[in-house]
Amino acid sequence: MKNPLSDYAREGRRLAGIPVFDVHAHVGQWPGCEGQTPDDMIVEMDRIGIDVAAVSSTLAIGSEFAAGNDQVADAIRRYPGRFIGYCHVSAMYPELMLPELKRCFARRGFKGVKVYVVGAKYNDPRFDPVWTFARERRAPVLAHTWGGDLNGLDKAAERFPGVAFMAAHTGSGFAYESYIEAALRVKNLVLDLTYSREHTQMIETIVEKVPLDQIVWGSDAPCFSMSHQIGKILMARIPDEAKRSIICRTAARLFGWKPMALKRRNGETVSRCTGEGQERQRL
Ligand SMILES: [Zn+2]
Repeated sequence: MKNPLSDYAREGRRLAGIPVFDVHAHVGQWPGCEGQTPDDMIVEMDRIGIDVAAVSSTLAIGSEFAAGNDQVADAIRRYPGRFIGYCHVSAMYPELMLPELKRCFARRGFKGVKVYVVGAKYNDPRFDPVWTFARERRAPVLAHTWGGDLNGLDKAAERFPGVAFMAAHTGSGFAYESYIEAALRVKNLVLDLTYSREHTQMIETIVEKVPLDQIVWGSDAPCFSMSHQIGKILMARIPDEAKRSIICRTAARLFGWKPMALKRRNGETVSRCTGEGQERQRL
C-alpha cells in the first residue's frame, strides 16, 4: 500500500496531505499541564500535521466558565480556521447554562458544547435545555467521562437521538467494555479515544466492534501529548481507512467542518477529509 499511515509515525514525518481533526484539546492551564499556550499548540499541530483542533477551556471547568469561554474565543480569533470552540457550561450553575450558550454561539467559531462531571449526571433534567440547544444548533457535545463510567451520558443520548454525544476518554483506566456496549446500543453516542494508557489491542477491539462513524480522536493537549495520542492510532493494527475515519472523517461530519476555511500552510493545498486518493484534491 502506498504511504501507509504507520510509516508517518515510524519515520516521524508530518502528516502532509492527510487531514487530521482533533476533537478534544484545551486552552488554559491545568495542574500538571502547565506551559503550553495556543501559540505552542499551533507549532505542534503544524509539526505533526493536525489541521484543526476543537478546544475548550480548562478555566471553564470551575466557576470561571465565562472567562474560560472568552479564552477560547481569543484563540479562535488569533488562529481562525485552526481552532473550533466548545462552549463550556456547568450544571453547578444551571440558570446560567442557556444564556452562556447563546453568548458563545453568537461569536465566531463556536460549534460544540463541552460539559464536565460536576453538579449533576448528564441525564439529569438540568441538562435538558443544553441538549435541546445542541439539537437546534446541530452542535456536537463533548462530555468528560472517565474509567468506564459514562455518568448518564448514554441515557441522555437515548433521550436526545438528534444530538451527537461524544464520550471523552473512552478507554481511560483500561475500561472500555462499557463504552462499546453503550455505543452499540445508542447510535448517537460517539467514542472519543482521548486517554493516556491502554491495553494492547484496545483500539483494535473497539474498531472491530463499534461502527467507524461512532469513533473520533482527540489529543487532550496540552495535558497529553499530541504526538503520543496520534501515534497510537497511526500504529494501530487497523486498516488505513479506519485510521482516516478516526482522525478526521467522523469528526468532520459531526462538526460540519469545511476545510475550505483553512488557511494554506507553506503554499501547500489544504486537504479534504475524504477517502483514499482524494486527500490531495485541490480546492
Ligand atoms: Zn480534556
